Amino acid sequence: MNKNIAVIRGDGIGPEIMEEALKVLNKVAQKFGHEFTYTEVYGGGAALEKYGHPMPQVSVDQCLASDSVLLAAVGDPKFNDVAPELRCEKGLLKIRSEMGLYANVRPAKMIPQLADACPLRKDIADKGIDFVVVRELIGGIYFGKRKTEVVNGEKVASDEMKYSEHEIERIGRVAFDMARKRRKKVTSVDKANVLDSSRLWREVMHRVAAEYPDVEYDDALVDSTAMQIVRDPSRFDVMVTENLFGDILSDEASMITGSIGLIPSASLGEGTRGLYEPIHGSAPDIAGKNIANPIGQILSAAMMLRYSFDMPAEAQAIEDAVGAALDAGWRTVDIMCDGMKQATCSQMGDIIASYI
Ligand code: NAD
Repeated sequence: MNKNIAVIRGDGIGPEIMEEALKVLNKVAQKFGHEFTYTEVYGGGAALEKYGHPMPQVSVDQCLASDSVLLAAVGDPKFNDVAPELRCEKGLLKIRSEMGLYANVRPAKMIPQLADACPLRKDIADKGIDFVVVRELIGGIYFGKRKTEVVNGEKVASDEMKYSEHEIERIGRVAFDMARKRRKKVTSVDKANVLDSSRLWREVMHRVAAEYPDVEYDDALVDSTAMQIVRDPSRFDVMVTENLFGDILSDEASMITGSIGLIPSASLGEGTRGLYEPIHGSAPDIAGKNIANPIGQILSAAMMLRYSFDMPAEAQAIEDAVGAALDAGWRTVDIMCDGMKQATCSQMGDIIASYI
């Protein structure tokens, strides 16, 4: 297959970790007989410098013309004082909304070789952590009306949490389709004992669930889910929830698996084009030193192959190669521990590519 991948290297450690992901993708292309071409796209501080905007229209157009987008990280302290609408985060929000990416998918999977980095009690971690959080990304309270006004001499602020049936239905389908490719279980998380938007969420989710009789389904309240994630994460397979709850729960879910440098994510919409990025930022404190962990970026490339290009064997080959590199004792400095062999960012990329 021929695929055109828009590549946003961004800022900080972005260019370094992206280089390693492309190294691994090139090895996959060679091994499986595909052709991947890369369109270099400016985003974040790098785009601000060149075009005066963190996500100029030319970059949006290049992403929309691609088969999928692979992003490293954006954000550079030297641009902290720019106008709010020119902040690097705004560039990210713009590309997500221009691409219509309404579903954010974050796996919470413990890599067995790094079990020592898991902050949970061993008997809990030993039951296994392997679930996915599907978060609604372009609706809810982050996009609702907001207001600060003075009432009776004091400030009063409000934010509106609003969901329509079609927004809930489409994110529900993403979760159920994903569950069919996994252990066939969906947990929908809401606060239906208090919020009207959650009661509608639950009603629509039940409707969608009826279309997937082969997938086990349950509802859970967000407060109890936050507890269950640390008490018994093995009970989850696919968790689907709205934007605000998902923001919080997906961070909690990521952290129980260990290091920030290891975790990939996908943002998906209609069609197969998505945006794939590690969950961490541009780590300016370690940029340019060739010590960043490229695994989150490399696993993001694997997610792209699985979800956008329907290449499950190729994705698995990358995941297995990461496992093999860790099995062989290789660690970047952020996950280094006694008895292991320290690798630089580029060495880690070489080693993982060698296991493809
Ligand atoms: P960060 O994730 O960049 O860094 C937090 C800590 O984790 C740092 O100590 C860093 O060195 C370490 N770290 C992160 N990724 C690592 C990796 N791959 N290997 C080894 N260590 C790693 O978060 P921050 O410091 O809060 O933010 C830095 C910049 O990144 C800011 O400008 C912020 O706005 C931006 N940011 C961007 C994104 C994104 O592009 N999606 C996400 C979060 C933050």
